[in-house]
Amino acid sequence: MNGKYIIGIDLGGTKISGAISTFDGKIIYKKSIDTLSSQGPERVTGRILGHIKHLIEYVKADKDEVSGIGIASPGPLNIEEGVIVETPNLPFRNYPLIKTVERETGIKAYLENDANAAALGELWFGAGRGSKNFIYMTVSTGIGGGIVINGDIYHGHTGNAGEFGHMTVEPHGPRCNCGNYGCLEVMSSGTAIARIANERLKAGEDSLLRNCEKVTSKEVFEYASKGDKLSCEVVDYTMNYLGIGTANLVNAFDPELIIIGGGVSKAGDALFSRVKNVVSKRCFEIMAKSVKIIPPGLSTDAGLVGALAVIMSKYNSAD
Ligand code: ADP
Ligand code: ZN
Repeated sequence: MNGKYIIGIDLGGTKISGAISTFDGKIIYKKSIDTLSSQGPERVTGRILGHIKHLIEYVKADKDEVSGIGIASPGPLNIEEGVIVETPNLPFRNYPLIKTVERETGIKAYLENDANAAALGELWFGAGRGSKNFIYMTVSTGIGGGIVINGDIYHGHTGNAGEFGHMTVEPHGPRCNCGNYGCLEVMSSGTAIARIANERLKAGEDSLLRNCEKVTSKEVFEYASKGDKLSCEVVDYTMNYLGIGTANLVNAFDPELIIIGGGVSKAGDALFSRVKNVVSKRCFEIMAKSVKIIPPGLSTDAGLVGALAVIMSKYNSAD
């Protein structure tokens, strides 16, 4: 199966990013196009197919030289059947994307959840290189994750393992988009951090955040570093929950690494020091001392590199 090239497609609500790389993952050419989600499933699939054709033609490859196409998509998915079950920002409902792509291109294709793909990207090209057992968590608009066991993704019985964003960390917390209450995502995602700060501002509390046109998680961390009281309290409050979620993962998996990525991880030490502190308090010492809680190795193109890594993991073993 070792053709010369592989293709990665990162499917997002706004952009379809694509890359063609050598078999060992060196990107030769990449390009993003608009998803235009409102045009419906057939048109969006047409755009994906057109983009794959463009990638192959641009590098003057023959399609027989392409070993596989990895497609990373938000879930839930049926990975074995290659079906997108449902996604909030894409028009697909129970849509057999992989069968369609394989039929139209003649190339073997694989679907993977975008957080799992990012975990594979870290395994093959990022901070997870050389490690076979680790947890990847992405803290951004929402919170997602991937479990790497023995150098491969653990998918679980229904294929949806790794939804760390929906573990309950506060039984009496607010309602989450998933219908449950007090999920990690509703307590410590970027969206949650902004929501909690904005609620307190609305209640009339004094804060330098009032100088900002828009208060997102980025501003909350920025003003916390300047000593703004409200911002510091929101960072402490939300990062305590992120620490609790991380401690639960450490106790459950005893991983070598926990890689925390996503937009909020750009806050750096303000996030990592707090999370590590909670882990050291809540986990068995032997695990808390050995686990490394670190930022990702990949930043730009993490989704795209992840989509390529999906193919790498099909044809190689990561040792
Ligand atoms: P997406 O959720 O679309 O994948 P990102 O991974 O970029 O997007 O995450 C966006 C979230 O990260 C937003 O809530 C944003 O406020 C937050 N964010 C971005 N940069 C920072 C930063 N430096 N510090 C804290 N939060 C940040
Ligand atoms: Zn939830």
